[in-house]
Amino acid sequence: MNTHTPNIKGDRPEIRQLDDAAANRIAAGEVVERPSSAVKELVENSLDAGATRIDIAYADGGKTLIRVSDDGIGIPEDQLHLALSRHATSKIDGTDLLNISSFGFRGEALPSLGAVGRLTISSRGFETDHASEITVNGGDIRPIKPVARSKGTTVELNDLFHATPARLKFLRTDRAEAQAITDVIKRLAMSEPYVGFTLRDVSGGGQGRVTFRSDAQSGDLFDAVLGRLRSILGTEFAENSVALDFEREGLSLHGYASLPTYSRGAAIGQYLFVNGRPVKDRLLLGAVRGAYSDYLSRDRHPVVALFIECDPTLVDVNVHPAKAEVRFRDPAGARSLIVSGLRHALSSAGHRASSTVADATLGAFQAEARPVAPVYQMDQRSRSTMVPPVQSGFADVQTEYSGRVEPVIETVEVEDAAEKPLGAARAQLHENYIIAQTPDGLVIVDQHAAHERLVYEKLKNQMAENGVASQALLLPEVVDLSENERLVLIDVLDELAKFGLVIEEFGGNAVCVRETPAILGEVNAQALVRDICDELTDQTTTKVVADKIEAILSRVACHGSIRSGRQMRAEEMNALLREMEATPHSGQCNHGRPTYVELKLADIERLFGRT
Ligand code: ADP
Ligand code: MG
Repeated sequence: MNTHTPNIKGDRPEIRQLDDAAANRIAAGEVVERPSSAVKELVENSLDAGATRIDIAYADGGKTLIRVSDDGIGIPEDQLHLALSRHATSKIDGTDLLNISSFGFRGEALPSLGAVGRLTISSRGFETDHASEITVNGGDIRPIKPVARSKGTTVELNDLFHATPARLKFLRTDRAEAQAITDVIKRLAMSEPYVGFTLRDVSGGGQGRVTFRSDAQSGDLFDAVLGRLRSILGTEFAENSVALDFEREGLSLHGYASLPTYSRGAAIGQYLFVNGRPVKDRLLLGAVRGAYSDYLSRDRHPVVALFIECDPTLVDVNVHPAKAEVRFRDPAGARSLIVSGLRHALSSAGHRASSTVADATLGAFQAEARPVAPVYQMDQRSRSTMVPPVQSGFADVQTEYSGRVEPVIETVEVEDAAEKPLGAARAQLHENYIIAQTPDGLVIVDQHAAHERLVYEKLKNQMAENGVASQALLLPEVVDLSENERLVLIDVLDELAKFGLVIEEFGGNAVCVRETPAILGEVNAQALVRDICDELTDQTTTKVVADKIEAILSRVACHGSIRSGRQMRAEEMNALLREMEATPHSGQCNHGRPTYVELKLADIERLFGRT
């Protein structure tokens, strides 16, 4: 029945003041959406308290336990009660809501958390030698007790939402909630590089398992931020990004942005901060997309960590209960700051990605240079395949002098391949490297990496269109797993089915592979499943779901790829080159390494001291 029509005939309910518990529970509805929101509020409090080290623990995706400990300024015993009451804060005095420099200011987090869970705060105030503890359970505050502890504060939240079971139903799996917690911690860790963070999953009790850790960084801010980003986004990001240091009309922008050659399949690696506050802002994310539009296709996304600083009065942080969004006084100015700052940095980086690769190659050649180039002394075992030369060039010379390279007998349709960007395949060396001649130089292709990339792009396209076609195995393959492997695998069976990989439980810890992606041809299903389990249980990186899927796809692609060590016929090599030209991003493999290196004739001439 629809109850929205006003009840005119019945008695009119009185207007009454809600009690604190109800008011707090309502506020909690906005502030605490899920365990990660609670973690965010608590860690922000620790940062506001000037902590240099923050340890976070959670159990069952944060549903049963969240504990945040810091070495910050602490809460004096006589203020513990106040900390738990609504609209009570030490961070602003309420006279100027436009000039806020702390994370918190609403005075709502602790009372909200105390209303929807069991909250215990133990704290030792600054310059006191005793510590106290207060507990609130579903809004009911218990008397303060003395405790022993070192300087700082620990807030423990048990059984979140046990008082509001409706909310519990909306929570996702423990794994998904844990991932959201990790994401929150990573964002805050990026904005505070001088603070050390440890995140632990204590689901099984005891010390648990560290799922993320980043020690306090040192040095100037640029170094500290880069060090922190390296520990969170990986060394590859650090090595494939450009630094930004840009200013315009009272707004400044610094941080790091990936080179276009280092992109992702989803906009998940984009971290934005306004005056140190992590924000998820459509306007700013749109500006990032705009800045890269000349460099990346629409389905690729850069990885960025961008920090905007401005006078606090130019931005309103009080527009979102969880403070995840901000409003700029001049939104167009903020947008243009990002677009110009990024374009400027990217254009000055130019073709750095490719040139670093070629430079490194040249450097390696130069270091090895000897009177008789060792390339002519190939091991008899590593036979190479040569394509008959169409025009005189590098390859003929090599054939003539080496005497060990056997021409391939078949004639190939080379047409105008030599005019194509990746040129005409001339040889395969060490059963993995294709050497091709281009109009003004030569290209060396890593056949395995290149093919892996092509399979990966195809898989992604198929998946985006209508799911990856699968082929049924004549004999379903049973794979024995460890319990942990089985558990992580069954979590993603639906996703895997979308990739054309149909796996069922088979009793005990075994699973049964029924179908594999058709594009892979014949694969070793055992090895494929084990690889996917490895990816899923890889604890060194905590990835969000979309990331995991991308990583799994990339593993799948690897299984369908031409292995190094396989001899290729000339047509096959040329077909691979043409496909690479037609496929966006084929210049880098799924791991961000180049799939080919190009040396211009000018570079080669330099090698021989001709210029
Ligand atoms: P807000 O952060 O908006 O002020 P909270 O409800 O999150 O509101 O916290 C209330 C007050 O409790 C804070 O203003 C602060 O004085 C105190 N407080 C909370 N957490 C800590 C902490 N970890 N260390 C020191 N003081 C804290
Ligand atoms: Mg707070």
